[in-house]
Amino acid sequence: MSTSKVLIRGLAPEQLRNLARELGHQSFRGQQLAQWLYSHEVDTWDDLHNLPGSLRQRLATDYDLSGLRLQERQVAGDGTRKFLFALRDGETVESVIIPMDRHATFCLSSQVGCAMACSFCATARGGRVRDLNSGEIVEQVLRLRDDLKREPMPGHGGRQFNLVFMGMGEPLDNWDEVQAAIDIFVASDGLAMSPRRIQISTSGPAHGLARLAECRHPVGLTVSLGGSDDAERKRSMPVPGRTGLAEVLAAAEQYARQTGRKVTLAYVLIAGVSDKLEQAQRLAALARGRNFKINLIPLNRLDDDPLRPADAASTLSFQKVLGEAGIDTFIRASGGQDIAAACGQLRRRRQRRNDPASS
Ligand code: SAH
Repeated sequence: MSTSKVLIRGLAPEQLRNLARELGHQSFRGQQLAQWLYSHEVDTWDDLHNLPGSLRQRLATDYDLSGLRLQERQVAGDGTRKFLFALRDGETVESVIIPMDRHATFCLSSQVGCAMACSFCATARGGRVRDLNSGEIVEQVLRLRDDLKREPMPGHGGRQFNLVFMGMGEPLDNWDEVQAAIDIFVASDGLAMSPRRIQISTSGPAHGLARLAECRHPVGLTVSLGGSDDAERKRSMPVPGRTGLAEVLAAAEQYARQTGRKVTLAYVLIAGVSDKLEQAQRLAALARGRNFKINLIPLNRLDDDPLRPADAASTLSFQKVLGEAGIDTFIRASGGQDIAAACGQLRRRRQRRNDPASS
């Protein structure tokens, strides 16, 4: 498949209206186009039957309607659905549907691979391959939405979904494309989502932190800490670890002020590494008196890794220390353990199946 064409679903409704005008049509044609692209399931240009044939032909010359091909779909015992998509250049990315209490959460990828080199993360193992473009990000949501429409999750809000950028990649390392996708998610003639239902998660690399304040929509922010002090953070997250905790938390606090929203701090609990009570106390000191809450994530074990998740007792004791310091703290057990739902695992297993020599 050609990769030189732009994915049309990466264009915001306003850009589609401008495009229609540039191609000699009235701007309402752009509006119709937006409706087809974001509200319906269309696979071929012929499906857009109320658009003039000449416009459809012209669009087909310069744009692709779709850039993702489903390669694998797995459903876990707890209802988590995991998707592996092949992109037009043969690279692959993962997206996940996680059943929550009153809705489904779509976990999205922002890059193929990742440059952050976090020690506990499967995606980090192969390094960064390339950024996703806005069309590839938006299409993940449309594919997952179609899947949910075909098979709603009873008891989990049916077809309601939230978005989190917690799949493969570092969103602040590909901020322009992630923001362009968010523009489409929130546009009234795009997916018309409230920014409150969208969450970006970042490890806080220096170049990205500096740009956080430019965020065009008040989406939720999660900051992955990687440790309770700078030395721990640097050890487990070598690249983003160059920004110390003071700097990262100052940016998070600024973001909380700017958006009026609580920022979530994510802390991965690894047995014997990050689950000690003194670490909980340090974390409490960092978060106290600020507009933060904390998510504790027991490690999702990687296939060949000796690291283990903290056990239930130490996880609860850790949470108790934070709770007693007055900090809202939640334990976020990873869904879909039986289908390798930790970001990057499915892609990695498949790569190794195809090429046993690669790691
Ligand atoms: N790069 C971004 C988003 C992707 S990672 C970030 O770092 O936030 C999303 C979350 O998953 C992060 O909080 C990360 O610390 C966590 N994570 C990564 N690998 C994990 C694993 N094996 N087990 C548990 N959590 C993991």
